[in-house]
Amino acid sequence: MDKPTLAVIIPCYNEELCIRATVETLLKYLDSLVLSNKIQKDSYLYLVDDGSKDSTWQIIEELHKRDKRVKALKFIRNFGNQKALTAGLEGVRNIGCDCAVSIDADLQQDYNAIEKFIDEFMKGSDIVCGIRNNRKTDSFFKKITALMFYKTMNILGAKIPPNHSDYRLVSKKALDIMELYPEKYLFLRGFFNELGLKTSYVNFDVKPRLAGESKFNFMSLMTLALNGITSYSVVPLRFVAVLGFFMALFGFLVGVETVIEKIFWHNSPNGWATAIILLCVFGGIQLFCLGLIGEYVGQVFREVKARPRYIKDIELK
Ligand code: UDP
Ligand code: MG
Repeated sequence: MDKPTLAVIIPCYNEELCIRATVETLLKYLDSLVLSNKIQKDSYLYLVDDGSKDSTWQIIEELHKRDKRVKALKFIRNFGNQKALTAGLEGVRNIGCDCAVSIDADLQQDYNAIEKFIDEFMKGSDIVCGIRNNRKTDSFFKKITALMFYKTMNILGAKIPPNHSDYRLVSKKALDIMELYPEKYLFLRGFFNELGLKTSYVNFDVKPRLAGESKFNFMSLMTLALNGITSYSVVPLRFVAVLGFFMALFGFLVGVETVIEKIFWHNSPNGWATAIILLCVFGGIQLFCLGLIGEYVGQVFREVKARPRYIKDIELK
């Protein structure tokens, strides 16, 4: 291949404060990449409006009228960032491109890394993951939870590189493979790293948000993490089974010990505190395990209903 047609996917949710500047900056950047002979002239942006309630969509329409390289899709309501990204990947596959990069609408991720992504792609990588150099812009809470999440995922066997957000390049080949996966919930970070395609990594700097506020709160981060884990791995279920086995074994041994004590030493039961503690601990563990299994049942429930991943409202090509 001579040089690729690049599609840049931008999920947007209530981004009226950023979106105009972001699109203008990225269009200029595309121009510079075309000038330096890195990409084809027909490279474009693909914005996915994830059911914004502000004027994001009106601004996108206006930008599309001015420059046809601004293509866009509007969801009927908010489906969440992973669905917006998935829709973006499917959308650009339908329109056509050789590779696609996803980037946040607030340009926190340094867009200059895209050039390095393309270099890696031209060297034969199908997936190029952006790795953050730092988390300076994240709150303490987010740093801790992110660390816990990546550690958990690694224990579960997912080879997600730490500090990789959804800033990555994927090739047409990867997009075609994605079409083969019918599941409704794809955790993209896990998914693309599992395919076994040639992957490389590029470091980039994180900047403060261009404008506006983070669209993620505690609940949406928890949902992302739980969906990521339960859609990716069944190891936690096995862990529950093993835990249950050892608890049962422990209970059996304690039971035997009690009986022996009763028969031979005629001790009166004076372990009230111990009983209460054990009751609470075991009760807690049982509830936790039940909840964990519930998460999986929920995942099965969602998949089995086979509802559409998202619902398109308008598409501007
Ligand atoms: N986003 C989205 N749907 C949502 C929440 C967020 O499409 O329900 C988009 C948002 O517009 C942005 C990207 O996902 O382009 C990352 O969101 P944000 O910058 O708020 O997250 P943070 O950088 O704080 O993790
Ligand atoms: Mg951000």
